[in-house]
Amino acid sequence: MDKCDLCLDPVNPIIWKNSKFRVVEIDDPSYSAYYRVEYIQHIKEMTDLDKDVRIELMNVVFVVESAIKIFYKPDKINLASLGNLTPHIHWHIIPRFYNDNHFPGTIWSQQKKFEKTKISDHTRNKLNTFISESLN
Ligand SMILES: [Zn+2]
Repeated sequence: MDKCDLCLDPVNPIIWKNSKFRVVEIDDPSYSAYYRVEYIQHIKEMTDLDKDVRIELMNVVFVVESAIKIFYKPDKINLASLGNLTPHIHWHIIPRFYNDNHFPGTIWSQQKKFEKTKISDHTRNKLNTFISESLN
């Protein structure tokens, strides 16, 4: 299959990667500490992966969720796998707060207001260090 946008190196920082997956920090002005775990090859559905690889993938997602829970302490963490626009399985891991721009809707629903979030460099470093050290 031809290369798509997600086959290329992302514009956003890669926090960790191996031969199968990568963790990318998404630059969204309204949602700090928002990450995406991407499967590097073209595979569309979770059930198209070998069982072992499914577990490996979800473990990467859970490490990212844990990092967000420990160091950013949101009111809720959303895990979402949509993939309607790309042939790569990927999981969005999104910290949510009761007063964020879309709560209780998804971040892709109608926006209720527009406020930027700003995470401190200290917290951001702790998150990213935890993720890369836990996965290495
Ligand atoms: Zn691709």
